[in-house]
Amino acid sequence: MTTETAAAAAWATVYGYPRQGPDRELKKAIEGYWKGRVSADTLKAVAAGLRRTSWQELAAAGIHEVPTGDFSYYDHVLDTTVMVGAIPARHRAAVETDALDGYFAMARGTQDVAPLEMTKWFDTNYHYLVPELGPDTVFTADPAKQVAELKEALALGLTARPVLVGPVTYLLLAKPAPDVPADFDPLTLLDRLLPVYAEVLADLRAAGAEWVQLDEPALVQDRTPAELNAATRAYRDLGALTERPKLLVASYFDRLGDALPVLAKAPVDGLALDFTESAAANLDALAAVGGLPGKRLIAGVVNGRNIWVNDMARSLATLGTLLGLADRVDVAASCSLLHVPLDSRREGDIEPQILRWLAFAKQKTAEIAALAKGLAQGTDTIAAELATNRADLASRANSPITRDPAVRARAAAVTDADTRRSQSYADRAAAQRAHLGLPLLPTTTIGSFPQTGDLRTARADLRAGRIDTAGYEERIKAEIGEAISFQEEAGLDVLVHGEAERNDMVQYFAEQLTGYLATQHGWVQSYGTRYVRPPILAGDISRPEPMTVPWTTYAQSLTSHPVKGMLTGPVTMLAWSFVRDDQPLGDTARQVALALRDEVNDLETGGTSIIQVDEPALRETLPLRAADRPAYLVWATEAFRLSTSGVRPVTQIHTHMCYAEFGDIVQAIDDLDADVISLEAARSHMQVARELAAHGYPREAGPGVYDIHSPRIPSAEEAAELLRTGLKAIPAERLWVNPDCGLKTRGWSETRSSLENLVTAARTVREELSSS
Ligand code: GLN
Ligand code: ZN
Repeated sequence: MTTETAAAAAWATVYGYPRQGPDRELKKAIEGYWKGRVSADTLKAVAAGLRRTSWQELAAAGIHEVPTGDFSYYDHVLDTTVMVGAIPARHRAAVETDALDGYFAMARGTQDVAPLEMTKWFDTNYHYLVPELGPDTVFTADPAKQVAELKEALALGLTARPVLVGPVTYLLLAKPAPDVPADFDPLTLLDRLLPVYAEVLADLRAAGAEWVQLDEPALVQDRTPAELNAATRAYRDLGALTERPKLLVASYFDRLGDALPVLAKAPVDGLALDFTESAAANLDALAAVGGLPGKRLIAGVVNGRNIWVNDMARSLATLGTLLGLADRVDVAASCSLLHVPLDSRREGDIEPQILRWLAFAKQKTAEIAALAKGLAQGTDTIAAELATNRADLASRANSPITRDPAVRARAAAVTDADTRRSQSYADRAAAQRAHLGLPLLPTTTIGSFPQTGDLRTARADLRAGRIDTAGYEERIKAEIGEAISFQEEAGLDVLVHGEAERNDMVQYFAEQLTGYLATQHGWVQSYGTRYVRPPILAGDISRPEPMTVPWTTYAQSLTSHPVKGMLTGPVTMLAWSFVRDDQPLGDTARQVALALRDEVNDLETGGTSIIQVDEPALRETLPLRAADRPAYLVWATEAFRLSTSGVRPVTQIHTHMCYAEFGDIVQAIDDLDADVISLEAARSHMQVARELAAHGYPREAGPGVYDIHSPRIPSAEEAAELLRTGLKAIPAERLWVNPDCGLKTRGWSETRSSLENLVTAARTVREELSSS
């Protein structure tokens, strides 16, 4: 692109920025406030300081228009609930007494009052608090937070654009309040909600906002004509307001599809679209509707949710195409930078050769600023940035880390037979029954036992050199020994070693697989003050050494009961990491699957006859659009089978998933060809057992009878009652007895009592079965 074809002006902007501060100052201040060690005023001052620093950093990096209102003490959807006055009845008194404490009560609950439910924000690993609405919901505008934060940014002399969750997305993310019929449709409240948004918009205009951004990511999902119609009405009405700022409707995480013509025609002033790889279809769709004449287009060309440097030449080509399609083209990340860590330059442990491939929020901001400059002033003005970028990309493409010939040759040689067990499920099931000799309704657990402070201290001691590897291993072995004795005493049938050695079910494996990187400061918000540090899957994956075999075989050496081996499956290894973007996900999954296959085979060789491969992320990784799901499920189930099909028929493969909505993937679960599956079911009173039965699921299953998300100890009678309910859906020969999930977050005393009750329940129901 030459200077002649450049845009007259192109601004750099972002929709949101990491909230926590460089050293998670916000987390520390909020948790201090909860414990009464930090005053409300101090908390507010810390928050204001973090906001100011972020804005100043953005401006200094060349961002022309900074976002406001994206900051949150807990969650931006909860902030929206406050902004529209949709406080659930049970929290109203607390909110009226003290707005901040009431806010945290909605987020976390109190001794007496349940919090709002939490769920995943689209297909990210961020969780939001689900609005609860009903036919009696009365909305009232509370623009205070939005107005105050806008004024803070304007006072710094910055151009600022408030960012709000849009009204359609807000309603689509809501659920019926607990006392409201389950078929209540929150979208029916749109006409009541729009006047409240109108009021907020007018106040923001009065406070000095030229533009306001309304985020509508829900429109990148498959939407019914009624839902699209709601979007049409919403933006027709908001667009028709006289006292309003310019409206920018933002979409991200995927293509807009049928919603694109709706928004293109709406009387709003600008659209923000995702143009990263997964949403590339937006480009043709935009051309097909004749572009956005008279509107501002914000082009999300820098991926806002991965950690890789941008291909700037490619982005410039996209931006060049877009210049012909809108009045004005600005440059942004594809979504809020909330989903990436702050600054890759702080990763002193990552080799400089690799560090140059990485771009966290700060580095992405610089890329966006450079692209905007190149677009406005010609690419020769960013020649140095482009040259560095080309060299960084070439270094990554040609590195032995991203290209390991042995791994590639092995992955290319995989045949369909490698992904199939040698016998059918029915034949295997009979062989396993004879081989394992388990009682009816066998009892087991999901893998982890309590991760005590003591264990975490031992790991910290090892890292700090206060104990050596041998000392650490003794400590873990002692813990395994205790876990095994407890399980024998409690009378469990299939034991586990307890996962004492695992800091985290993904990180533990990532640390041992070649091709993965760990970060020191790469924190991203999972929910509230909870941050995670996902490992980076950077290169070709191989397993230099067995990862779990010594622990599992040690545990087996202590008991005559079968000890179940525990691994994290390929899909979950990808889903909870920052995954490479330079090859299809399915190729990466296959490499991970091959590494796990070696581990599964080594476990079997070491004498393990039951091996569980956990895939809690199988369901949550489903693509947002239904059209993309079949292809995903093909590679995902194939990777699972590739990791588990190398064993003899008598070796029993288990899998575990957490969440309860399985209706839409029952076929995929069957395609895993696992012998046994365990699932969360206690809170929903075995709903998942009924769903499996309704779909004719033919295999053994353990719907959970102990809710591990609560410290509450289920009584033996309560667990027995759940088993009786389970037996109505799943025959006794195929029903397992287990908790909902791993016990790592629980304490030992409640774990002991709960598992003893679980065993008693199984015995009671076995007797009932044999006497009837
Ligand atoms: N085996 C793991 C554990 O017990 C499974 C956890 C999960 O699926 N979330 O902790
Ligand atoms: Zn689980």
